[in-house]
Amino acid sequence: MSPRQALGEGFRHVFGRLPEGIWSAPGRVNLIGEFTDYNDGYVLPLALPFSSMASAARRDDDLVRVASAQRSESGEFSVVEAATDKLRPGATMGWASYVLGVIWALRQAGAKLGGVDLVIDSDVPIGAGLSSSAALECSVALALHDLYGLSLSRQDLALVAQRAENEFVGVPTGIMDQTASLLCRSGHALFLDTRTFEVRQIPLDLKPVGLTLLVVNTGVKHALGNSAYADRVRDCRQAAKELGVPALRDVAPENIDDALAKITDEVVRRRARHVISEQSRVLEVVRLLESGRPAEVGPVLSAGHRSLRYDYEVSCAELDTVVDVALANGALGARMTGGGFGGSAVVLVGFAKTEAVTMGIAEAFAARGYSPPQTIEIVACDGASRVA
Ligand code: ADP
Ligand code: MG
Repeated sequence: MSPRQALGEGFRHVFGRLPEGIWSAPGRVNLIGEFTDYNDGYVLPLALPFSSMASAARRDDDLVRVASAQRSESGEFSVVEAATDKLRPGATMGWASYVLGVIWALRQAGAKLGGVDLVIDSDVPIGAGLSSSAALECSVALALHDLYGLSLSRQDLALVAQRAENEFVGVPTGIMDQTASLLCRSGHALFLDTRTFEVRQIPLDLKPVGLTLLVVNTGVKHALGNSAYADRVRDCRQAAKELGVPALRDVAPENIDDALAKITDEVVRRRARHVISEQSRVLEVVRLLESGRPAEVGPVLSAGHRSLRYDYEVSCAELDTVVDVALANGALGARMTGGGFGGSAVVLVGFAKTEAVTMGIAEAFAARGYSPPQTIEIVACDGASRVA
């Protein structure tokens, strides 16, 4: 049975009828441009070959009922139920908040929605920094959009999904994940200016030049993450304030030395140095990809990792191990990606070295007593769509 058929069967099992359709939205990995989003800066994600699928059918009443294959036990789904007009941020609905939040945010955006039955099935690794949350939100947002004949743009839907996560679930994320999930195209990375929402498709077709991208999921998530995130946001605001600019994105990379000299606190200065230099790295990677020189992207990725490790201080031993071992085994470049303190890394490597890098990382993890990492070869995929 194909995953779609299985999902259709799952829906019938839970709700005793067939879904009206199935919508799919991918997770993402950010190639470069880390912690630039809350500084109004640039990011460059691509969509993964993993996605959340939402099977859905409208209801005659105002109820939403939702179940997830990832929250079922031995095939038995537990169904979360709520009235669409009673949804309020702050309600503790666990994982279902991501789904209910989308319905709440769509209604806040003025959408006229009735009830809906939903069954979710996703192969995006959960909590690995590959945005299973945005994949889930976007698959649901697109399902409701199509079922209820809404006419929101993909960018509007991304904002709706982001609002669901920020306000309903209560996780302060930028706009990158949802934009990537909805707007990416296969064979391309998506350049996104998080201030203006300008997007541009950047060619990322590595196979013909003998290269591949690996995503290495360390499987760890150190608890430090949440407080450190807030600290970094605060440091960046302070740096922007001292420099008299609305956001760090307003410091031109060529003025970086002058700008940094004006920041009094040493830690804040390093945080700012990461963000300002990361902006130029995104532009440099875009320039290299657009001029057909993908192999030269490698050192820029590695420079990005050093900046995250030493200046922004959001890496961890497992991520540093991935990067160091990948480079020692012939990778062209590697960096942590996502929120840091665990999660995943990306590695750019030639075909001939792929196995050595993969094995080297596995062995290094075993030697250090870490749990086995998951290393996956990826290609840039299409954003969300209706699949049945
Ligand atoms: P990431 O987005 O990096 O995977 P997050 O912590 O942002 O990590 O989101 C993970 C959360 O999203 C899970 O803990 C769960 O609440 C929810 N989630 C994601 N995918 C699913 C799914 N298929 N079924 C149920 N909940 C999911
Ligand atoms: Mg997430």
